[in-house]
Amino acid sequence: MDYYSSQITKLIEELSKLPGIGAKSAQRLAFHIINMPREQVDRLAQAMTEARNNIRYCKECYTLTDQERCPICSNPSRDHGVIMVVENPRDLAAYEKTGKYDGVYHVLHGAISPMLGIGPNDIKLKELMQRLQADIKEVIIATNSSLEGETTAMYISKLIKPTGIKVSRIASGVPVGGDLEYIDEVTLLRALEGRVEL
Ligand code: ZN
Repeated sequence: MDYYSSQITKLIEELSKLPGIGAKSAQRLAFHIINMPREQVDRLAQAMTEARNNIRYCKECYTLTDQERCPICSNPSRDHGVIMVVENPRDLAAYEKTGKYDGVYHVLHGAISPMLGIGPNDIKLKELMQRLQADIKEVIIATNSSLEGETTAMYISKLIKPTGIKVSRIASGVPVGGDLEYIDEVTLLRALEGRVEL
């Protein structure tokens, strides 16, 4: 039974496919959108289409950007000899918010998880190793403290050790299994400053 017009039903359906949006929220959003000024709806739709069409990986650190190199990688005042390895662009954003880290990043886009069948080749690990050909002083591993994050950290440190480049791991104190993006800036800074060499 179609309570609403089929177009509203379609909108509700599409919205409910988004993460964290259940049937109720989708309905609420759909009715909100229908009541929004037309120009605002156009801007929203356009922003989504443009982002999807133009966003790509930074060719250096693999974060999402609309340029060939992201603003961090193309900033000459950042320390390009220090690379912080994170699981995803949201973690990068969390560290950037502290405003205290002046190195660059490497985004893995995931973590090694034998349980989920995600291996070293499924994340941007080869790309990290390629970057280490340059003059790198330190690699800071800032993957999550989940099982997958720890597994990934161990794997990376074993790969890098033979190169003689300093490898460190952010201090624990970041709650176990805690997603980095939800941790406050003070905790992140403490984790970064208290990092230990592996
Ligand atoms: Zn970049």
